[in-house]
Formats: sequence, structure tokens, C-alpha cells
Amino acid sequence: MVASKKPTEVRIAGGKLPPIPLPTNCPGCGVGLDHEELRRHTYVCECGHHFRLGGDAWIALIADRGSWKERYGDVRSHDLLNWKVPKPYQETLEQLRDEGLNEAVRTGTCTLGGRAVWLAVFDFRFVGGTLSIVAGERLARGMEQAAASGLPYVLVSASGGARMQEGVLALMQMAKVNAAVGRLDAARVPFFSVLTDPTFGGTAASLALLADINIAEPGAAIGFTGPRVIKQATYADLPAGFQSADFQLARGQVDMVVARPELRRLLAHLLEIYP
Ligand SMILES: [Zn+2]
Repeated sequence: MVASKKPTEVRIAGGKLPPIPLPTNCPGCGVGLDHEELRRHTYVCECGHHFRLGGDAWIALIADRGSWKERYGDVRSHDLLNWKVPKPYQETLEQLRDEGLNEAVRTGTCTLGGRAVWLAVFDFRFVGGTLSIVAGERLARGMEQAAASGLPYVLVSASGGARMQEGVLALMQMAKVNAAVGRLDAARVPFFSVLTDPTFGGTAASLALLADINIAEPGAAIGFTGPRVIKQATYADLPAGFQSADFQLARGQVDMVVARPELRRLLAHLLEIYP
């Protein structure tokens, strides 16, 4: 006789999402938005439009309530190249910090459905979620800790690519984080990547598409260079839906497209089935 297996209870409710700036009407369907209602639905409109979330909202959505412990938040970016265009880089950094944003990547530990994980989230509001020296350092350090301790690694991306204000030093982060991904793999530690709108450039070309399972949000634009630049360079007519999540799914670049209200449940399930 086979004993009935009671499904493992998964706490699905993360913390309450913070308010985010929203338009009056949904850009997907044009309907007037009830901001509180939308917040309860993880900022996904009934028509399926997924509004962009900042790093704090992603942490609240994914981490079990009260479990988030930020790590390496005191590792800060500086203007090493004396970058002045379009405006002084140091000024940009200080202005964003005054607005309460820390960096384009925040990383730490939390539990998800009761299981301890490392979590890293990009924040598009900080210089377009660009991969900087500090972002790369936080990502790589977290991965090394995850590999050493055997904790799964969950990544949420929203990024324009490598940060031009840090030049080749930012590009080097692609190699650095990829080496850290290799350490996760060598340690047999699961790595799950969630690609949100937009994930481009050096971020898509490095860690965001190198996970054991790459999960895209519906409607997310994912690619290396944007369609406008590709069109200018190739004079080609690009296919409908070029670089959308579904387009990338059909071509095997991502493994699944999952609506945001289902994401926590999916990640909790993946954490259970991966050894
Ligand atoms: Zn809508």
C-alpha cells in the first residue's frame, strides 16, 4: 500500500508590496487603474500588463515576510573614470542615493516558502539597472557564499546592460559573474533566473540567461541590442514580437514564461524538486 503523500505546505504570501508610481490608465488596455487593487494583484493588470517593479518590491514579493537580510549593502560605487557625460557620474550616484536607492543590484539572504536562499534583485531605477563594479561584486560574492553554503540562488533581472560610466571595468563584471555562476554549477547549487522587462546587453549576455532555469515575465523584452539598433545596422525587417518573452521562449532562450502572481509558487515548487 502506498501511503498518501500530503502536499508540502508552502507559504505563498510574501510581504506587502510597496507603492510604485503608476499612470492613470493602463498602457496595455487603456482602462483607468485602481492603484490599491493593482497592488494586491502584484501590479499586474487584468489585461496581463506587468508593471515594472523596483528592487524593494521584488524583495517584498519573493522573500517570506520578515526574512530578508541584506548583504554587502555598504559596498558602494564611486566615479573612478572621472566620467562627465551626459552629467557627472558622481553627481548621478549621489542623487540616486538621496532618493533612497542603493545600487542597481541588491543582494542578501531570505527564505522562500520556508527554504533559505540567496536572492539578488536588479533595480532599473538605478542608472537603468546597469551592471557596475559594485553590482558585479555583490552578485559574485553572493554566488560564492551560496556555492560554499549550498543555498540555492535566485536572481531577478531588469537591466539595460553594463554601465557605460564605468567603461571596461563594468564589462569585466560579465566575466566575473559568469565565473561565479560556474562555481554554483560546480557545487551543484540550483540557480533560478527571472528575467523582467527589460533585460538587455551585458546582463542578458552573462548571468541572466545562464541559470538552470530561465523564467521570463509575460511581455518582457529580452535581448542583447535593442530592435532599433539592429534594424539600423542590418536594414532587415524584424519579425513580429521580436525579443519578447514569448519570442525567446519559442527559440529556446528562456525555459518558461510565468505570470507574476504565479512566480512565488513556482519558485517554491522548483526549490522543492531540485536536490
Ligand atoms: Zn491593462
